[in-house]
Amino acid sequence: MAQLERRLEHNVAGDFFVDASCIDCDTCRWMAPDTFMRREGQASVHRQPETNEERLRALMALLSCPTVSIGTEQKHDVTEAGAALPDRIADGVYHCGYHSESSYGATSYLIVREAGNILVDSPRFNRPLVRRIEALGGVRTMFLTHKDDVADHAKFREHFGCERVLHEDEIGRGTRDIERPISGFEPVRLDEDTLVIPTPGHTSGSSCLLYRDKFLFTGDHIAWSATMGHIYAFRSVCWYDWSELVRSAELLRAYNFEWILPGHGRRCHFESERMRVEMEKGLRWMQSAA
Ligand code: SF4
Repeated sequence: MAQLERRLEHNVAGDFFVDASCIDCDTCRWMAPDTFMRREGQASVHRQPETNEERLRALMALLSCPTVSIGTEQKHDVTEAGAALPDRIADGVYHCGYHSESSYGATSYLIVREAGNILVDSPRFNRPLVRRIEALGGVRTMFLTHKDDVADHAKFREHFGCERVLHEDEIGRGTRDIERPISGFEPVRLDEDTLVIPTPGHTSGSSCLLYRDKFLFTGDHIAWSATMGHIYAFRSVCWYDWSELVRSAELLRAYNFEWILPGHGRRCHFESERMRVEMEKGLRWMQSAA
């Protein structure tokens, strides 16, 4: 629960505020940019929500904050905000919300489809979210991009009986009982619509999931940078090998996709030809950041 006495000084006066426990994960800023911005390494409220839509987005961010660092002076009914999560992005792809502190606030996604829903990385195991996922058809497969973003995977497995998919290089103490480890570095087709593409670099077994040649779920491999205005990768938090990461990003030239949906960093959407141009721009930056 956010504490009023720890309210950061950069918040504008009024109902919503961020307290000093903020870990600067960026979630609230892209979920509700009209309300939240970055000041001196943490989020703060730069403008109080005025419309119903702005208030709803701010409350969705409040529910999704991994450290419960967003508070309000007034009491709010969050039923509507809870019902708005998972939040549809496009087609049957949703942003789950309810980010987990154990994955440093990584974003997780739900793919809703007739062949069985897929949870991409793990949100916080939260009852209202679980009920909403049940209403959307549950979870058949849980694809984990890498070891850092597994959060409450075991609870989701226990509740939904889903098959978890994780590259074998990423398996550790908490993930030894993964049902479907991925071996080697060749792409692996899970079914007609989904392809696992191993993309070592951030970690040795980091992998992306390509869905319907349209949505690329990238974990911490590549993302959009709102400040630089191009696709990039996390040079300072590359835990395994930057050259490998760049090579893995170059191999993505072989695929068509329109969306990059990352764990950290911003998502982006371009029609596929423009995405190729944006990828080349991003690759040039990555190659020069060696
Ligand atoms: S979602 Fe929470 S932890 Fe993340 S930047 Fe916003 S206030 Fe900080």
